[in-house]
Amino acid sequence: MINMMRCRVCSDHMKHGSREWHYSCASCGYEFADLRPAINVDDAHCQLNELSRANGLRLLRERNFKRLVRSLTLLRPTAGGRLLDVGSAHGWFLDIASSHFSVLGIEPDRRIYDVANGQGKPVRFGFFPSALGEKEIFDVIVFNDVIEHIIDVESALRACSRHLSPGGLLLLNLPSSSGVIYRFSKACCRVGINSLFERMWQKGLPSPHVHYFNARNLSRLANKFYFKKITSGTLSTFSLRGLYSRVSQAGSHGLLARLVVCFFASLSLPLLRFAPADIIYVIYRKE
Ligand SMILES: [Zn+2]
Repeated sequence: MINMMRCRVCSDHMKHGSREWHYSCASCGYEFADLRPAINVDDAHCQLNELSRANGLRLLRERNFKRLVRSLTLLRPTAGGRLLDVGSAHGWFLDIASSHFSVLGIEPDRRIYDVANGQGKPVRFGFFPSALGEKEIFDVIVFNDVIEHIIDVESALRACSRHLSPGGLLLLNLPSSSGVIYRFSKACCRVGINSLFERMWQKGLPSPHVHYFNARNLSRLANKFYFKKITSGTLSTFSLRGLYSRVSQAGSHGLLARLVVCFFASLSLPLLRFAPADIIYVIYRKE
């Protein structure tokens, strides 16, 4: 447990939040979780059905990735720049981005890396930035649902600056603390229902979330590393297709519980379109 913690965005004191491992900053809204990753550790992997996860997320991810690649190509209309995807997982973003960019992915999870590599995807095993050569330079660096897992986010942003060409683009796509589902999960905590909140932080999964930002405090942090926001937007969190696989992915609920969750989730989908989004993206330019 951490007794005293300074906010990495605004340096104010952080206070205990909804759970004993959760901290939040009243000044800027940044949130932190004192949760430890267990990547490449077998026990944590057993809790996650990786195949189910892949199937459930694929359609939604591909739709979101096409949108992100379109935003990047508008900012870099000349094809052929080098793009790095940090935490490239199954290589779906690489597949879509390769129509416009020369792509490379790096993936720290050995099993996922082996699958992507076996399929001939342009991936390298390891963590960012140690998997890169000192002088490797890219025109675009992308973190799709990755930056919220990296404890030392400052070092990651510094490394992005080092590995980007002048005027290069940094794309961050991550869950938002302003999202309606996240805020609902915090409200549930107040009445003693912690499971959704723990799910939002991916507590107990191989690589839990350690940060929750919103668009404003994220840009405030990025500005410290000379990244200037160019554009931002929101992405879909759910689609009806693949919902059951996603509900099944944590593996510990019975069939009836899964069906009930799917039923209520599908009812709420039309309403969620009008609520603050749970996934945001921001594209920065290196100044
Ligand atoms: Zn703060």
